[in-house]
Amino acid sequence: VSMQPTRPVQDIIQEANIRLSLLHLSYEEMNRELHQTKTDLQQLRQQLVERNQLLERLANLDGLTEIHNHRSFQNFLQAEVNRSQHNRSPLSLLLADIDHFKRFNDTYGHQIGDFILKELCKAVGQIIREYDLMARYGGEEFAFILPETDTEAARSVAEKIRSTVEHHDFFDGLHHYRVTLSIGVATALPENEAFRTNDFIDQADRALYEAKNRGRNRVALASLPSSTKWLPR
Ligand code: GH3
Ligand code: MG
Ligand code: MG
Repeated sequence: VSMQPTRPVQDIIQEANIRLSLLHLSYEEMNRELHQTKTDLQQLRQQLVERNQLLERLANLDGLTEIHNHRSFQNFLQAEVNRSQHNRSPLSLLLADIDHFKRFNDTYGHQIGDFILKELCKAVGQIIREYDLMARYGGEEFAFILPETDTEAARSVAEKIRSTVEHHDFFDGLHHYRVTLSIGVATALPENEAFRTNDFIDQADRALYEAKNRGRNRVALASLPSSTKWLPR
């Protein structure tokens, strides 16, 4: 038997040691990369959450006044109608419209008009309950959804809003302005079969029209034809 000369054991062990540390190094490198990827992913996820929140804000809030927009109003109203049906509780809706706002714009300019809209939302936003919703229904019209609120309570909320606006000092740093609001109030028991959300909005709208007709800067309650069964009076 002829044997090849073998490498000394020391050499083999040394080489094995070198290979082992190389393996260890690449393992550590991989670990570092994995850790970095995980951190990057977490940051991306956080950015995504923030972008989504921003998108939701943009989709639901009015650009000028930063209160809920019409879309958000419709969604909230439907959710509250469902909840009222389930809880058998009354639901109230206020529609408010600034008085003679066209004249106001014509006299002071559209920019001052915009300032009034923003300031009004700030002032009124402070006095409504946390679970009520204030939305910009249209140009100078606002809607308030008041869950679990009967006619009398809704009337007093409307009166408080009206009075707050009437007495608010709209000051833009140069001049003081005054505006007033007319408000229509409708209350429903959505559990009733005859309830229709569109009729409900119509009732509040007609009451608003009534408030305008009676001289503005006032609150009017929806008056119902005797055949309408869904409002508790
Ligand atoms: P009324 O008391 O009957 O409600 O009279 P009004 O003049 O308020 O009603 P009208 O519907 O004739 O006019 C509404 C005005 O609201 C028209 C427009 O100049 C103003 N308006 C609507 N949206 C905006 C807005 O975003 N900014 C400003 N500055 N004005 C607006
Ligand atoms: Mg209007
Ligand atoms: Mg108006």
